[in-house]
Amino acid sequence: MARIEIDEQRCKGCGLCTIICPKQLIILCSKVNNLGYTVAVFDPSAINCTGCTLCAEICPDVAIKVFK
Ligand code: SF4
Ligand code: SF4
Repeated sequence: MARIEIDEQRCKGCGLCTIICPKQLIILCSKVNNLGYTVAVFDPSAINCTGCTLCAEICPDVAIKVFK
């Protein structure tokens, strides 16, 4: 089972990862990081992440790591 980790302090809340994930496993939440941006979070209960890496590739702030 694959999973991702999002570095909340690097995230600028652009939402690109939420759009590109084919399984819709990433959402923007109400949490705000130290820079004042709303951050993206990965659904911790998700079991259907494929590890496709699309989210990591599109993130302009290199905030996402994918683990397979
Ligand atoms: S690796 Fe693919 S399936 Fe998993 S969260 Fe990222 S975009 Fe979604
Ligand atoms: S693509 Fe990167 S910067 Fe944009 S919301 Fe997702 S994790 Fe944050």
